[in-house]
Amino acid sequence: MPSPGTHDETPRPLLIGGEFLPGRSQLPPLESINPATGQLNHRVAAAGPDDVDDAVATATEAARAKAWRHMLSPQRAAILHRIGELMLRDSDRFARLQMLENGKVWAECAAQVKSAAATFRYYASVCETLGSELTPSRGHYLSMTVHEPYGVVAAITPWNSPLTMEAQKIAPALAAGNAVILKPSEITPSTALELGRIALEAGLPPGLLNVLPGTGTTAGAALVEHPGVKMVSFTGGTASGRRIAEAAARKLMPVALELGGKSPHIVFADADLEAAVDAVAGGIFEGSGQSCVAGSRLFVQRSVFDQVLQMVSDKANRLRVDLPDASGAEMGPLASFAQRERVEAMVEAARASGAGIVAGGARPHDARLAAGAFYLPTVIAGIDNRATIAQQEIFGPVLCAMPFDDEDDLIAQANDSAYGLASGIWTADYRRALRVARALEAGTVWINTYKQLSIATPFGGFKDSGLGREKGLSGLRLYQQAKGLYLGL
Ligand code: NAD
Repeated sequence: MPSPGTHDETPRPLLIGGEFLPGRSQLPPLESINPATGQLNHRVAAAGPDDVDDAVATATEAARAKAWRHMLSPQRAAILHRIGELMLRDSDRFARLQMLENGKVWAECAAQVKSAAATFRYYASVCETLGSELTPSRGHYLSMTVHEPYGVVAAITPWNSPLTMEAQKIAPALAAGNAVILKPSEITPSTALELGRIALEAGLPPGLLNVLPGTGTTAGAALVEHPGVKMVSFTGGTASGRRIAEAAARKLMPVALELGGKSPHIVFADADLEAAVDAVAGGIFEGSGQSCVAGSRLFVQRSVFDQVLQMVSDKANRLRVDLPDASGAEMGPLASFAQRERVEAMVEAARASGAGIVAGGARPHDARLAAGAFYLPTVIAGIDNRATIAQQEIFGPVLCAMPFDDEDDLIAQANDSAYGLASGIWTADYRRALRVARALEAGTVWINTYKQLSIATPFGGFKDSGLGREKGLSGLRLYQQAKGLYLGL
């Protein structure tokens, strides 16, 4: 494959059945644009329904092949380990591809490659150690539960952390014995293709990992609706997730949905305010706020509200917004110009309805950044939790700060959201922390920390934030169906 950043004219190919192919669909190629500069990185072939048919056919064959179905788990684990090793060998290349396509700063891209490699190593271990179960018998027989793959799994990923999401789906789906068709976001197709290349090099038999860059409405929808696809694992927006769940219901097909969020980040007056403010700023501004678990609603106990608002705003104003590969850059651009327009429109609507913009609320003035999709870290106050800006997911570096009076008021406000992905609590009182943690409607609660994530801990959303749990041991079972086996004695 050509090296990243070159303006090659030939679109990068699809990966179907172990071969890199231009595809049959004749659709206009995807244009990968560097959001830091507005320049074209490269073009990538866009898959259409014919390519989906081809990928499903080859994946079905590969999933059924005895060589894969009967492969002993230590051998399967060895391939996953090798994929992790090769990702580390090529980590600069992976990090650079992600940085060019979604504009995240270098340090974050590099950390995400390491984390994705660790995901492959983790599921290699799970694959080798997770057994079947002997269940209590109620008669003269032996009863067992064994776990079997679905066959062909479609993995559909977003642009904000492509490699992390891809590893989180592909490693357990392969460990569970499936074949996978990966449809990366149209904005960030390249890390997925690299992963496909590395999987082949690691010895994964052809056809078990196919990569189909393309749009959601064409390649994505065709995959979800294809009768040969037996399970879909999706990470993305709630509206897309709902459409996928509707299509899956028609096929009676299981889905795992990791969707959007509007996570409350809570600061009580007795908290270590310095540490809390550091985490609040990191929780919303890291990755330019394009994180499903971004702590986008800040709730501060009223007695320290003004003080914390000042501290967070000072931090936002001091944050180094720069080109993603500039040394010391803390925040890069939004991942696309369309995303910046969306964020700007939401902030302007809030301003027009009377919200106070305490920090940011504009593009940076730095001429070096003028060609990119940059937007300043923004803090909004003077609103309540029912305001549109406090209810809608922004997916940008925009924090809504609101006061609360007591625990009951806090819990009512924090849970008054369609979403329930994550949350954070800062307090010195561990009893209160645990009480509030249990009362929050969220799939993850952080206490006196934020955005710590372990591949060993199940992750997913309450309410409109999703269905099912990825990661951990259950993250492998997500890609298997249980079978009861009885042996008469
Ligand atoms: P998106 O829903 O627009 O797209 C996500 C992926 O789905 C892309 O690959 C897209 O092409 C595809 N897609 C879109 N419509 C489809 C359809 N009808 N059928 C099949 N595929 C379809 O989301 P996005 O804008 O790429 O990502 C941002 C969203 O993802 C945010 O809402 C964010 O919160 C969410 N997200 C959630 C998590 C999580 O783990 N919960 C993680 C990251 C991002």
